[in-house]
Amino acid sequence: MAYDTNNIFAKILRGEIPCIKLFEDEHTLAFMDIMPQAEGHALVIPKEAATTLFELSDAAAAACMATVRRIGNAQKKGLGAQGIVLMQLNGEAAGQTVPHFHIHVIPGSIADLRKPHAAVMADMAHLKAVAQRIIDAI
Ligand code: 5GP
Repeated sequence: MAYDTNNIFAKILRGEIPCIKLFEDEHTLAFMDIMPQAEGHALVIPKEAATTLFELSDAAAAACMATVRRIGNAQKKGLGAQGIVLMQLNGEAAGQTVPHFHIHVIPGSIADLRKPHAAVMADMAHLKAVAQRIIDAI
């Protein structure tokens, strides 16, 4: 699949649209999902342009996993999450809606994921308050 440079996460990476940022380093960015499926639902993306895991370099994949660990640990510490669910969709056929590789980092249990995927917009003030608890625990 050819990479679409106008996808929403590419625009977030270029600073063209805002996000509630949790963490950033040279290779990755972590921010809050605006339609969370659970409290504290975060996304980790590489700065490298890749649509799915299968186009991503090994180095960028490793950098993403390091950031996933950092965010998951902060969700455990800051939100008291007992479990962390990782979800990662590859291709429209899998249900991927944003064509820039990303890993969902979701506090809680798979049994709690009752909210529909990418469907219900969160209250921004609440999302920022939850984000701050994660940031403070990084
Ligand atoms: P996918 O379906 O591609 O695995 O997941 C895309 C995720 O991006 C969804 O969970 C959806 O809620 C989230 N999302 C879609 N648009 C935006 C946006 O503009 N900002 C943020 N922060 N998240 C978004």
